Amino acid sequence: MKPKERMAIPRQKPKELDPQERIKNFKEVTFGYDEETAILEANRCLSCKKPTCIDGCPINNDIPAFIELLRNKKYEEGYWKVRETSTMPAVCSRVCPHEFQCEGSCVRAKKGDAVAIGMLERYLVDWMVLNKKNLFKPCQLDKGKKVAIVGSGPAGISVGFYLAHEGYHCTIFESLPVFGGMLAVGIPHYRLPRDIIGAELYSLKGCGVDVVTGVTIGRDKTLQDLKDEGYDAVFMGVGAHTSRKLGIDGEEGTDGVTHGVDYLRRVLTGEDVDIGRNVVVVGGGNVAIDVARTALRTGSDKVFILYRRTKEEMPASQAEIHHLEEEGVRIEMLAAPVKIHSENGKLTGVECIRMELGEPDDSGRRRPVPKEGSNFIIEADSIIPAISQNVDHTADKGVEFKLTGWGTYDVDPLTLQTSVEWIFAGGDNVLGPQTAAKAVYQGKVAAESIQRYMEGKDLIQDRKFPCKYM
Ligand SMILES: Cc1cc2nc3c(=O)[nH]c(=O)nc-3n(C[C@H](O)[C@H](O)[C@H](O)COP(=O)(O)OP(=O)(O)OC[C@H]3O[C@@H](n4cnc5c(N)ncnc54)[C@H](O)[C@@H]3O)c2cc1C
Ligand code: SF4
Repeated sequence: MKPKERMAIPRQKPKELDPQERIKNFKEVTFGYDEETAILEANRCLSCKKPTCIDGCPINNDIPAFIELLRNKKYEEGYWKVRETSTMPAVCSRVCPHEFQCEGSCVRAKKGDAVAIGMLERYLVDWMVLNKKNLFKPCQLDKGKKVAIVGSGPAGISVGFYLAHEGYHCTIFESLPVFGGMLAVGIPHYRLPRDIIGAELYSLKGCGVDVVTGVTIGRDKTLQDLKDEGYDAVFMGVGAHTSRKLGIDGEEGTDGVTHGVDYLRRVLTGEDVDIGRNVVVVGGGNVAIDVARTALRTGSDKVFILYRRTKEEMPASQAEIHHLEEEGVRIEMLAAPVKIHSENGKLTGVECIRMELGEPDDSGRRRPVPKEGSNFIIEADSIIPAISQNVDHTADKGVEFKLTGWGTYDVDPLTLQTSVEWIFAGGDNVLGPQTAAKAVYQGKVAAESIQRYMEGKDLIQDRKFPCKYM
């Protein structure tokens, strides 16, 4: 394709913002802080000279600065301070695992009393909504180049947001009928209301980013088609949506075996899913907990979590474990499934074995070792393994990427460029299943690289955003 043809993108004027539309897309301002509580909490911030919380935040939000503005009731300025670094403050302030990120690095956390940074960030977003303020600044897409983004999760959203602000036209291609990636089809509604994702979509479109749902790259069109259509660069943000299997007898082909993210996707896209009353969920992370709590909400009343180590080693957040137990889910610790029993193709029970903890493994946690002869059976209607996810490579059709041993894209650790010069990647399809904020940060890194690539600049020298998570 000739360069001239590739430049033929109409200039876009900033869009007019309709206040009604703006507020309609963002109604959910419940159970956050009221003003008095927010200011009291902000006053607990010690305004450290070397703030450790900034390093704990994957996006490096300037936390003391936005808290100082909030403390002085400069809410709008506080919101824009967060927006300087974060593409998705409404989402991150709600779903970030704060105790492992910003709040875990707050100096007050040493005494178990971290400043509630996520809640304060959320207060600023909610204040903007309640006061009918713009949540984004429209962009002038005047640079005459365009970028295709595969996947509408936080990584893809972040790339679109930053490149639009630099004047580039971006189109996000999403295979599902809904926008938002795992935010929409993984995280349950009770933790992240859909209004919030709708608000992020509205912000993104307001910046001039196009979003096309229901198009699977690699099936409906290929990466080469995108290049031929004049896209100057491509970002891969396809996440990790293929459930990892247990690899035990009966897992394949038995009615009653559903894998974690498949189950959540079906429920969250509106399917009426019946998994019976007795359900065994396998895994110790946040996904397993979301599955178990969702199962209670889709009609199951006896839900177990089966975890091969002890509660102390569970990677899930303490708050989520607390909610889980409060809702009546039992955690069957030091146990692992070994076989699925069935009659006429329908699951009847899960055979498990007791484990004991041996020497520490590579992760530093003590390795679970099966206790011989300790097998027992749990009667169940369903089993839902939720033990991690792999990357689905449907999108790659026709392009040979270098992959890591984990099946993720092998990218340059500083620039996130893949082995194919015009294609960059970030988020879960590079890191493996991680967090929204890390995906947002990698999107920011990739956006800088893509801009440099399109402008013919060196990808490495004097970068603003080096990649921290490789
Ligand atoms: C159940 C669950 C709960 C979670 N809870 C939290 C939490 O509380 N806090 C937190 O920070 N993180 C949480 N996470 C993790 C977080 O959601 C992910 O780390 C994050 O969404 C990854 O972003 P991403 O953009 O890399 O990919 P994703 O969000 O996975 O988005 C990828 C998108 O690409 C699309 N896609 C895939 N292939 C194609 C194709 N060929 N063509 C077009 N589109 C394609 C997919 O449909 C998907 O929409 C959770 C994850 C799960 C599964
Ligand atoms: S983005 Fe997440 S980690 Fe960073 S300040 Fe906000 S809530 Fe904390």
